[in-house]
Amino acid sequence: MTFTGKTKNLGVIGYPIAHSFSPAMHNAALSAAGLDYAYIAMPAAQEELENAVKGIKALNFRGINVTIPHKQAIMEYLDEINEDAKIIGAVNTVVNDNGRLTGYNTDVIGFIDALKNAGFEPAGKNAVMLGAGGAARAVVWGLIKENIKTLSIGVRNVAKVQPLVEYFKDYISIQLFDWKDPAFNTALKEADLLINTTPLGMTPNIEAMPPVAWDCVSSDTFVYDIIYTPAETLFLKTAKEKGCKILNGMGMLAGQGAEAFRLWTGVNPDLKIMEDELGKLVL
Ligand code: NAP
Repeated sequence: MTFTGKTKNLGVIGYPIAHSFSPAMHNAALSAAGLDYAYIAMPAAQEELENAVKGIKALNFRGINVTIPHKQAIMEYLDEINEDAKIIGAVNTVVNDNGRLTGYNTDVIGFIDALKNAGFEPAGKNAVMLGAGGAARAVVWGLIKENIKTLSIGVRNVAKVQPLVEYFKDYISIQLFDWKDPAFNTALKEADLLINTTPLGMTPNIEAMPPVAWDCVSSDTFVYDIIYTPAETLFLKTAKEKGCKILNGMGMLAGQGAEAFRLWTGVNPDLKIMEDELGKLVL
């Protein structure tokens, strides 16, 4: 791809940012679509966030992705926040319309599209989610939007997750468990969908996984780990050995990128190209 004076700018801000897969994924998709954009990674420390956002406007960037540690903090510097991002309380994509910045959260669409593309239809199903940190809020909201029937959450620290349960209680009744409590096993037995949103098992700690009573998990349960490195966590490997259908976090990562791409360019990217590019980077 040759860049010219007319090339439009995109990028990702975070700190640190050198590890980001987004430049490779987006530049491959932009190039395949024949779009004249360049996507770069831009380190922005916390104290520079406000200046960084002003820079997006000043330098006429078409848009950016936002990652740790800025997903919440950036919201106060934007002109508008879309509905999903407001509910989740985090922005991972910004679109610049002639100086007016709108924040979006595309993790919701990424999470749900990957699940549906893998053949699982959430409506009317029982879901069990392990862990309840930042990414889990997009998972919960995605499941609610897709009309999941029940949601049970298993965590190590119930008190810490109570505010999340309170927050979503107008949309769905959530059962919250200490994941070591035997009562949690009833939810596991009834689960159509079991999702790991903890980082347990992520590279380099690949020997870890959340404590699941696997004898309570049916082989009909669809098991989804939003971790994407390694491609098959111990959690997914164990589920596969039980005969469960499994899905890793790669499709979610590509899907959130694809939705950001659509918001910036108005063009549907080739998801396969994005996934292939990510596949080259994931160990
Ligand atoms: P986070 O905000 O730090 O939340 C992590 C959750 O896991 C919290 O509930 C935390 O519990 C729990 N947890 C962490 N370490 C634990 C441990 N040793 N034992 C038990 N529970 C533990 O992280 P996040 O941003 O939600 O990310 C979670 C994972 O999702 C990461 O692996 C990340 O790479 C992945 N992710 C994937 C995508 C994708 O596109 N596929 C997108 C976002 C995130 P406490 O609150 O008690 O610490």
